[in-house]
Amino acid sequence: MRREIFSDEHDLFRAQFRRFVTTEIEPHIAEWNAAGITPRAIWKRMGEEGYLGANQPAEYGGAGADFLYDAIVMEELAYHRAHAVQASLHTDICLPYLTSYGTEEQKRRWLVPGIAGECLVAIGMTEPGTGSDLAAVTTRAIRQGDHYVVTGAKTFISNGQNCDLVIVVAKTDPAAEPPHRGISLLLVEAGTPGFVRGRRLAKLGLPGQDTSELFFEGCRVPTENLLGGEGQGFRMLMSQLQQERLCIAVASIASCRRALADTLDYVKQRKAFGKRLAAFQNTQFKLVELATEVEIGQAFVDKLLAAHVRGDDIVSEVSMAKFWTTDLQKRLTSECLQLHGGYGFMNEYPIAGDYADAAVQSIYAGSNEIMKVIVARRLGLD
Ligand SMILES: Cc1cc2nc3c(=O)[nH]c(=O)nc-3n(C[C@H](O)[C@H](O)[C@H](O)COP(=O)(O)OP(=O)(O)OC[C@H]3O[C@@H](n4cnc5c(N)ncnc54)[C@H](O)[C@@H]3O)c2cc1C
Repeated sequence: MRREIFSDEHDLFRAQFRRFVTTEIEPHIAEWNAAGITPRAIWKRMGEEGYLGANQPAEYGGAGADFLYDAIVMEELAYHRAHAVQASLHTDICLPYLTSYGTEEQKRRWLVPGIAGECLVAIGMTEPGTGSDLAAVTTRAIRQGDHYVVTGAKTFISNGQNCDLVIVVAKTDPAAEPPHRGISLLLVEAGTPGFVRGRRLAKLGLPGQDTSELFFEGCRVPTENLLGGEGQGFRMLMSQLQQERLCIAVASIASCRRALADTLDYVKQRKAFGKRLAAFQNTQFKLVELATEVEIGQAFVDKLLAAHVRGDDIVSEVSMAKFWTTDLQKRLTSECLQLHGGYGFMNEYPIAGDYADAAVQSIYAGSNEIMKVIVARRLGLD
């Protein structure tokens, strides 16, 4: 079905980016997955071609275009299983903090090279002791003269090894009541004494992503690296999460489409009991049901994309989409794996990776349970 949110210019951009993915990314995915990390050069190439800043202001090197261009980048990367390149984390989750809250100096220093692919940005919220309950972070940033002294540990940080800059969620007022009022965001550069990268963590899926531990051991960060005001961190985080969760839903539906397309191909050629798997009613019903859900999900995501571009408050609906699409992705990849039989369990068949990669979608960017907590609150259920 033709999607109504995209113009001819969007379609042209998609064709151009798809060519880039098939020539410069897809041939290397297996190698990057095996290495557990993407080479920095690919970020530079993405930046050179303008794929990291479509939705960023032109005065800082972006294209000043609408968010749909970024959505196209997410969709194509997800469809081509290029999960190793966490472009949306950098462009749509991290850079907007600088665009929205950075001072002019901070923008020149990090946003401009960020859009160019020369400064890769990560965000450090999660800690070994807390993830969903963000207000309970224990990393501290205590002011001493013209510096903050940052002490604490972060874990599961995407782009953790590759990043040049981390937006660190820390308490500048650990005694604040309620606790979230003590949270601030600090921009910590790689190479700052006391900022130490820990292990690149072995994972069930997303093997090409350098999900890592980060440590801050009396790390002295200049006060000019404070983003927004002291105590404003939680508010800034909450206002950026709508876009983060929409990104997950966008990529999730694109991943569903790919797993479904490959499974349709597979069942049309594989035979059992003298006929193609596609001829069994069970296969047909399963795939028809999944294809229907993907269309429903796509229609919802497209409606949200259009609303997000308009600037509507769609926190509830995006939270619904995040849990619904990622639950669908987990179920769909499981059903598609089953239709591949034993081959579905073999790593040489991409559906095996799809199944493993899907598992985290309901956990990060706010777990699906937290999405339901948000919607419940907005429905007046607390
Ligand atoms: C591959 C990967 C990449 C990641 N990248 C980043 C990153 O770049 N930056 C970053 O900061 N973090 C990142 N994370 C961390 C991620 O955001 C957290 O794992 C997530 O927020 C959940 O936190 P937790 O793991 O501490 O689980 P917990 O908060 O301990 O939750 C455990 C379970 O309890 C449930 N639960 C918790 N609270 C409630 C509640 N109130 N009601 C009902 N159920 C509840 C959860 O839904 C979950 O099922 C990443 C994680 C992974 C796996």
